[in-house]
Amino acid sequence: MLAASAGLVALFLFTGVLDLWQSLVTLVVIALAALIGDARSGPVKLPQVDAAEQHREVDRAIGAVVGAFPDAVILLDAADRVLASNPAAREIAPALAVDQPVTLALRIPEVHQAVRQARAAGARQRAEFVTRVPIERWFELIVAPLPPSDVEPASHRGRLILVFHDMTPMRRVEEMRVDFVANASHELRTPLASLSGFIETLQGSARDDPAANARFLQIMKTQADRMARLIDDLLSLSRVELVEHVAPTEPLDLVSAVRQVVDGLQMLARDREVSVSFNLPAAPLTVLGDRDELIRVFENLIENAMKYGGSGKRLIISMSQDMTADGSPEAVASVRDFGPGIAPEHLPRLTERFYRVDMASSRAEGGTGLGLSLVKHIVNRHRGRLQIESELGKGATFTVRLPLVGAPAGAAKSPSG
Ligand code: ADP
Repeated sequence: MLAASAGLVALFLFTGVLDLWQSLVTLVVIALAALIGDARSGPVKLPQVDAAEQHREVDRAIGAVVGAFPDAVILLDAADRVLASNPAAREIAPALAVDQPVTLALRIPEVHQAVRQARAAGARQRAEFVTRVPIERWFELIVAPLPPSDVEPASHRGRLILVFHDMTPMRRVEEMRVDFVANASHELRTPLASLSGFIETLQGSARDDPAANARFLQIMKTQADRMARLIDDLLSLSRVELVEHVAPTEPLDLVSAVRQVVDGLQMLARDREVSVSFNLPAAPLTVLGDRDELIRVFENLIENAMKYGGSGKRLIISMSQDMTADGSPEAVASVRDFGPGIAPEHLPRLTERFYRVDMASSRAEGGTGLGLSLVKHIVNRHRGRLQIESELGKGATFTVRLPLVGAPAGAAKSPSG
């Protein structure tokens, strides 16, 4: 009966009919009813078992149920001593021990207040709290009294169940959202402030100064372009995020897409006096991809290499086939520059939105700080990987790896042989 009940409750839980704590309470109550029911039928089912042993059996069953839950769960007796807890609960309060007062192991005022209120009201209570050691974690706590049963001994009355739900991932996402809105507004406000400053100047002191007019209008154009780029990047980013779970299905040749990007960037290469050399395979590298998105990826990487690594005066663009660890063929495209490189502490954060190693040089280059974030999301959508390798003073290599189609598994060849 216990197994059937567990299955039933699991069904409710996973179909959303009951939430986690409701399921848990239901299961504990069913466990009590089943085992006490078995015990009451006395001579037929458990002839040699005395009442104390029956109650221990109930406690063991409840302990097993509590132990199986993914959220932290603690069961308390009427005197707030621990009857059962699971590993997730002992992670929050390592000193939790059966028969010991919960206050010894869990010194969180919000928890004790919720326990007191649940006892006073005889009803479910909800609380939130934060633990700061060893890392910051946010929890939602539900404290629910277990319904009393006539067949239980007095010692089994007044039990409370505490369910702790870890809200840290949700909080992090929410913080990221708030940061994102703050960053995006700040990034837009800066060129906007500059634009309105120049408009005022043009309306006032510079009204009759044609030379100043021309200079200010050029600056205003640069700022307006920057705002347009920022809005364009933000929209592209949200569009890609929206469809990130749907991999593109159109076959395309990555080599020709990269060639198209390099052709389009020849002016920039000339301006920066950067020579681009190629290391490309003779045969096409066919991937399933969205051409515009992949062009955007290589535009960002090659433009960055020219802008931030341009002092090295040369770039190498290499493409080849390789094998993933699990033996699937993949296309590998890398952009290598010989500029100042990137310090190791920045590497893991480069693909975060608005992250720049050097704000001033990004601004001077008209950067939005969104380029590599967009690259990462597009590569993710294509079920590929982005690798960034760099050493200060020795330049940087950005490598995109995408699943290859149309190549027999044995045909892929690693660049090193
Ligand atoms: P941005 O719009 O600022 O170019 P990106 O997301 O494209 O934004 O790049 C983030 C930051 O990474 C840049 O501001 C720059 O500091 C650094 N970066 C990117 N590519 C290179 C490179 N090839 N060499 C050195 N630094 C780079």
